Amino acid sequence: MADWDSHDHPDDLAERKMRFLFALRSRGVTDSRVLTAMERVDRGLFVRGTFADRAYEDMPLPIACGQTISQPSVVALMTQALAIHPRDTVLEVGTGSGYQAAILAHLARRVYTVDRYRRLVRDAADLFRQLDLANITAIAADGSFGLPEQAPFDRIIVTAAAEDPPGPLLAQLKTGGIMVLPVGQSDAVQSLIKVTRTDHGFDYEELRPVRFVPLVEGLGSE
Ligand code: SAH
Repeated sequence: MADWDSHDHPDDLAERKMRFLFALRSRGVTDSRVLTAMERVDRGLFVRGTFADRAYEDMPLPIACGQTISQPSVVALMTQALAIHPRDTVLEVGTGSGYQAAILAHLARRVYTVDRYRRLVRDAADLFRQLDLANITAIAADGSFGLPEQAPFDRIIVTAAAEDPPGPLLAQLKTGGIMVLPVGQSDAVQSLIKVTRTDHGFDYEELRPVRFVPLVEGLGSE
């Protein structure tokens, strides 16, 4: 049945998508590869239920298991800070909706993404199959321990906030590798930081204030 509600009108959708990309540029997303990846992944597929029609707005939205899909401009800025090369293997901690992983999959050779909720991992894996994103492996696990069997990684992105960068994740980063993550108290302002592993240790750069759900120990109940 055709539904001529304005939200479903194709021109309206195209316009909303154009505004979406414009918003990213105006927030400092300049890397053309990142912008192309953001353009190719339809955020509308990753937001379900009542909030679906707000998918092209630059705001975080609720998803299942009491979690959130991040704000698109933050997804894009974190992806840009990772400076991914086409041959890289990337670990994402915090699959959530799967949106960030889908963006990464367009830029990297291989993406591993983990979440503590089996339900989120299952739903995200279904979407990856539907979108033919065969280079993503989604796993239910406590990501604060990383993925020792697949380590080391060229890039690591954490989309939940810890007080400090988890030691196992630092250990699983290759020399020359980059990790981007929010750090700080979960109920206070957090900082997005970029950690680069050098021959001698780790360099830390503070990028901007952010707000993420906390990194929580152990597997979730769902
Ligand atoms: N990147 C997601 C947003 C993630 S929200 C997206 O694009 O939609 C943060 C996610 O981190 C939540 O789904 C939460 O369940 C997960 N998380 C929190 N602590 C975790 C841990 N220790 N290991 C793995 N995932 C964790």
